[in-house]
Amino acid sequence: MLSNTPCASFPRSFCVGVLLSLLVKSGLAQTQNFSMEDFYRVEKIDVHAHVYAETLDFVSLAKRDRFRFVNMAVWSDPSPRENLEKHRTVFLQFNADRDRTAPVVAFPLENWDKPDWSQQTIEYLDKAFKAGAVGVKVWKNIGMEFRDKDGKLIMIDDPKFYSVFAFIKKKKKVLLGHLGEPKNCWLPIKDMTTTNDRSYFQENPKYHMALHPEMPSYEQQIAARDRMLAKNPELVFVACHLASLEWSVDEIAKFLDRFPKAMVEVAARTGQLQFQSHRDRKRVIDFMVKYQDRILYGTDTGVDGNSNAVRIYQQTHEKWLRDWKYFNTDQTLSVPELDYPIQGLALPKEVVEKIYRVNALRTFPNSWGQG
Ligand SMILES: [Zn+2]
Repeated sequence: MLSNTPCASFPRSFCVGVLLSLLVKSGLAQTQNFSMEDFYRVEKIDVHAHVYAETLDFVSLAKRDRFRFVNMAVWSDPSPRENLEKHRTVFLQFNADRDRTAPVVAFPLENWDKPDWSQQTIEYLDKAFKAGAVGVKVWKNIGMEFRDKDGKLIMIDDPKFYSVFAFIKKKKKVLLGHLGEPKNCWLPIKDMTTTNDRSYFQENPKYHMALHPEMPSYEQQIAARDRMLAKNPELVFVACHLASLEWSVDEIAKFLDRFPKAMVEVAARTGQLQFQSHRDRKRVIDFMVKYQDRILYGTDTGVDGNSNAVRIYQQTHEKWLRDWKYFNTDQTLSVPELDYPIQGLALPKEVVEKIYRVNALRTFPNSWGQG
């Protein structure tokens, strides 16, 4: 087409300049970025939610904000009954409206010491996949809490997991891992970089590793996860919470370069991105643009049977708006995770669409009524 235009006989830079000035005059150049109003128009997926409610109130309210979810059950409660309840409600939400949530399950560890644990787990997952589960979540209790009958702490690179991971891969499902914790977890409270980490570890001293020097170090947690991925290179892996490398976009970049099947999601770690962009905004923008195909949006919102769904929706709505402002505009904003204001990244529209939707559709095919 271009060769037939008058521009063909002019130098390319001149033509680009003329085009740009025309675009600016027509207002089209402003469409590089989404506006705050666009928040209500753009379809979005939050890949890290825990909706364990009987009612559809939360998910229905989120339709106003055009949010769909990956809804994860986690095997995190000491009571198996509680964990099964989470699974029941995750499937309840899914079956009530398959267009809105995609269920992720977790496997029991109670029978770990039995010789057929792997086989039992594969059968359990097979049923879950047939019921519509799109992935399997492993949680930080592996590596930080769960022990075998001899008291040995079980790490994620334990070979006993590998036939289970091979099955997940064979069925074209996804492994999602919250493994390890933010680096702050190994620091004294006063040295932590974000307020949410300070309050979480203050309230959960059993997970505050600075108080438990006998437990594996931060580096050992990361190394176990990386050994597991190196042994299972074909597994699609969503590394939750910025792969527990939230403190450095350079480290996340190295992780994504090393493991081409891995994705990272930002849930509960946007404060860590903001901590970094406050110091070097360009570095974080360059990272988000370079890895635009590998990053997923998520929040870690939780709704259970006892929560007030309307109140949680309102809080989540505020969080979604703050994040939208941060990723899409160059405005200054205050966030609860930091004690100082930060400037938004003003990422291009195409990058935001990938992070907020396109990458999730690719990572979880056949979800949300995709066929
Ligand atoms: Zn979570």
